[in-house]
Amino acid sequence: MQLRVQLLQYNLGCPTQAAFAWVVSVTVTRNAFSFAPTAVSFPLHKLKFQYKLPSNPIASTLLQKQRRRFLDDQVMRHRIHFALILLLVGTVPFTVAKGVTAFRSVTWTPQELQSGSVCLFAVQLEGSPAKLSAKWMGRDVSFFQGRDGHEWYGLAGVDVEALPGVYPLYVVATMPDGEVIHLSRDVQVGPSNYKTVSLRVPDRFVKPDAAALRRIEADKQAKDIAFSHQIPTPEWSGDFRAPIGSVVSDSFGTRRVFNGKLVSVHRGLDFRAKPGSPVLAANSGEVVLARKLFYEGNCVIIDHGEGFMTLYMHLSRFKVAEGQKVTKGQEIGLSGATGRATGPHLHMGVRWEGAYLDPASLLSLTLGNLP
Ligand SMILES: [Zn+2]
Repeated sequence: MQLRVQLLQYNLGCPTQAAFAWVVSVTVTRNAFSFAPTAVSFPLHKLKFQYKLPSNPIASTLLQKQRRRFLDDQVMRHRIHFALILLLVGTVPFTVAKGVTAFRSVTWTPQELQSGSVCLFAVQLEGSPAKLSAKWMGRDVSFFQGRDGHEWYGLAGVDVEALPGVYPLYVVATMPDGEVIHLSRDVQVGPSNYKTVSLRVPDRFVKPDAAALRRIEADKQAKDIAFSHQIPTPEWSGDFRAPIGSVVSDSFGTRRVFNGKLVSVHRGLDFRAKPGSPVLAANSGEVVLARKLFYEGNCVIIDHGEGFMTLYMHLSRFKVAEGQKVTKGQEIGLSGATGRATGPHLHMGVRWEGAYLDPASLLSLTLGNLP
């Protein structure tokens, strides 16, 4: 994409100079930003601008450098008032609020997001911050530092019920000297098309009686405790693997009508599984819940660190206990049809900071040798 950007500079009250303007052409790609002058109506010998840029700086840093050059220039010291009009229409609106240290790039995988998508943010900076954090869609994104020290990664995702739109990612980096720099980057979430399906389950799951309601409330408390568990660093390593080697139904996000009445959103992925099939941990972590629940049946929840959890439901047997550390591929239980299940299958859920994400999106994400 090629954009033409006009930068206007006014020189008011300087006896030797009239107002001037220059035009530069700006080339913007998803991650790169460069520009070159096409017209300058000002004595060039007075202003030694450097327009040749490294391939990957951020717009605002450059503007700040130029601004400093202007202010340092003797000719321009006379009450220069200037206005910069930077029109960038497209995919890369950057703003750096403060600081000399700059963000080099913010990228994410996959680039196309929709509700339920799991995504890996990667942030590159000049220098090594002591701390990097971000806020996105009302949630805190935890970042860990890559091996080279300049790149930081955060595993996040879009809730199954999120609406399409543009959601800015606000990144804050605290440098070792205490300097705090900010960056905001718009992230597009596209539309998704989820089906509505009708299902039949025993009536007690649609109209729970008083005893069942008490169980559901107790379950909620147990789950809230499990979900509040915190591990500050990633326990996972590399790609997440499927918990069972069977066919996956296309069921994430479907709006489900149980027995013609109850409508709920399916917040996970169903794997077909004969009862008694081994269920494996999708990645390493700590078991924060392993107990029988009313709707979920025998349920295991693994905390993989930094707010990222996987859930396994309707098991016939447990092979792990709460508090236990597990490694990727370890058997955590056997599949079954306990709880609100229409038949034997494994329901896998992915939860991040209260959002429910598409397990298929997590399983297809390449995490290489991270963290
Ligand atoms: Zn399910």
